[in-house]
Amino acid sequence: MIGSGLKKYGRELGLNITPKNAYGEVGGYLVSLFEGAGYKSFYINCALASQDDLGSRYKIDAFVKDNKKEYNITSFDINEHGFTVMLYDTFGTLKKYKRFFLECLNFLKEIELLGADVCCNCKTKLDGENSRLIVDNGIMKKYDVDCVNARLNEIEELKNAPKESKNYAVGILGAFLGMLVGIVPWIIVYCFGFFVGWLGFLIGFCAQKGYELVGAKVGKLKVYIIIAMSLVGVVLAQFLGYCASVGIEFIKMGISFDILPLIAFVYDFVVYDPQTRANFVGELFMGFVFAILGLIGLIRSLSRDAKSADKKFEVIG
Ligand SMILES: [Zn+2]
Repeated sequence: MIGSGLKKYGRELGLNITPKNAYGEVGGYLVSLFEGAGYKSFYINCALASQDDLGSRYKIDAFVKDNKKEYNITSFDINEHGFTVMLYDTFGTLKKYKRFFLECLNFLKEIELLGADVCCNCKTKLDGENSRLIVDNGIMKKYDVDCVNARLNEIEELKNAPKESKNYAVGILGAFLGMLVGIVPWIIVYCFGFFVGWLGFLIGFCAQKGYELVGAKVGKLKVYIIIAMSLVGVVLAQFLGYCASVGIEFIKMGISFDILPLIAFVYDFVVYDPQTRANFVGELFMGFVFAILGLIGLIRSLSRDAKSADKKFEVIG
């Protein structure tokens, strides 16, 4: 949605006005202007995709950050095809917005960044023939026809990709192995009689790392696999910690034992002794809480992925 003020400004600049944005070329760059609850933002499409553009990215980043205070910039996001600047919307913001928007365009000129006359993806020179206007997740971009086709093929392939169940199976194994590493500190610390709940954090972290190290599928199930594996890890860590500390006590008392009967003994103890069970469950709970805390970033990414799932790539001109 854009309001009347921004629409008017869009018209002044000669942009196309749609209900969602105003877009078009200004000063040699393809821009999109947006507005939402509490903010006004603009996106400038430019060619930043190659290694050589890292310097330009850095310059833009520094430039926007230098102006952050003066223009009430609340967020700034840069990637290979351009950047978005968002200004906190309050009385008088439109004036600042206009000023900073033009300053940005001037700055891009100054650093000689390529704009609307090349494909933002590969810098191929655009003429009337090969130039395509794209809506990529609500943002306007200019591609050459080859990059459009490559992207469309990629999207098609993703759609038709064989189901990733195998890949998830690898992920389960990775998360399991990571979890096994993650429970070791818990077991050791438990044997020394210290509070271990916070080490649930580490279990979650290791399960996630394990999953990622084996290069398993990044999809919705990933988060659930890692959470499930972390919770299993906490139970396992707590139980093995219990076994180990009982074993150590037995050694101290000079009682000889075998591993399996000891595990069975501890199991019965935890299940049937009310006091032991209560302690056990209490510590488990803390472990769960910390494991989940350790995975907050991952859980957040779930809602982000859900949003990007309805990402649209559309050729409009
Ligand atoms: Zn291209």
